[in-house]
Amino acid sequence: FRAIPKDWPVLGEHIVCDTSSTIDLEEQPLDGGVLVKTLLLSPDPYMRGRMRDPKVKSYIWPFILGQPVDNWTVGIVLRSESEKFKEGDYVVGVIPWASYNVMPASRLEVIKNENHLPWSYYIGLLGMPGRTAYYGLKKIVDLKEGQKIFVSAGSGAVGSVVIQLAKLRGAQVFASAGSEEKVAFLKEIGVDRAINYKTDDLDEALEEFGELDVYWDGVGGPTLDIAFKHMKDFGVVVICGLISSYNDGENQYGIKGFIIGDIVAAEGGSRAFDEEVGELVKQGKIKYKEHYTKGIENAGQALLDVLKGNNFGKPVVIVADK
Ligand code: NDP
Repeated sequence: FRAIPKDWPVLGEHIVCDTSSTIDLEEQPLDGGVLVKTLLLSPDPYMRGRMRDPKVKSYIWPFILGQPVDNWTVGIVLRSESEKFKEGDYVVGVIPWASYNVMPASRLEVIKNENHLPWSYYIGLLGMPGRTAYYGLKKIVDLKEGQKIFVSAGSGAVGSVVIQLAKLRGAQVFASAGSEEKVAFLKEIGVDRAINYKTDDLDEALEEFGELDVYWDGVGGPTLDIAFKHMKDFGVVVICGLISSYNDGENQYGIKGFIIGDIVAAEGGSRAFDEEVGELVKQGKIKYKEHYTKGIENAGQALLDVLKGNNFGKPVVIVADK
């Protein structure tokens, strides 16, 4: 991370891929920790909020200038001085974006993957974005059968899971996304009415759909303004994310919604999610899309792509196969 962007981050200026530092995989001291090889990185929209002046308060610590950015990552253990991990374990944790890292054991968890799912699911459907959808619906909304919900950024990692969990609860779902391809996917996962917010009239379509019990906001901006007009009295608006304003300059932290890490901490872990959503995935009841980028040198571009909506599905950067 090289410089704090004012609006859109620029590759080479704010984020650079620096391959100059090396590490001796055999000799590098571990100090009781674990040597992890990076396999899969997760470019997530919230990372833009961490590219800020450290003096600006937020729910999460900022990236440090001159240091690699970090986020949820899947890796494999090459060497360990901790009893919790052994060579060959697949692990997940918030890890710097580098090919290899020495990590304290407390920052990692072993992925058991008893159902032999793709490892990338643990940074998406069965990781932070999936938890956001599950706990948001359960703890913030408590959506009921027959209720009407509108989900924006519907084809994404969070939105697509919200939609499918809402359908399993018997809700009527309206969703928006930014391309015809994404709208076709929304229909495939069972939404009752799907629109392309770039070409269709959202206001008119919501009018036809009827008053909303819930609006799940992943984008903010004009979509949020229009959704407000269609809320039932005492309906619930969930401010999950405001991606449309993440690159709007300095005044982007004004609204406070919910943060998944707070809920997981308050719940003492994510067992309910792991069991319930794990079972749904095992039974093939949740469809899920991923968007792959190859090579750590392309990770910065993958992060800019998710901010611009160039991803279709959960972005995953494949750094190494094993
Ligand atoms: P997505 O996979 O949905 O990717 C982001 C999508 O946002 C893009 O693909 C794009 O899709 C859409 N988008 C980008 N710019 C705009 C815009 N100006 N107007 C409308 N849509 C836009 O990401 P996630 O599922 O990971 O995250 C979705 C939202 O949830 C984000 O705002 C994120 O910050 C938030 N979030 C919040 C959490 C919490 O704890 N509260 C945890 C995780 C995520 P399209 O082509 O449809 O425009």
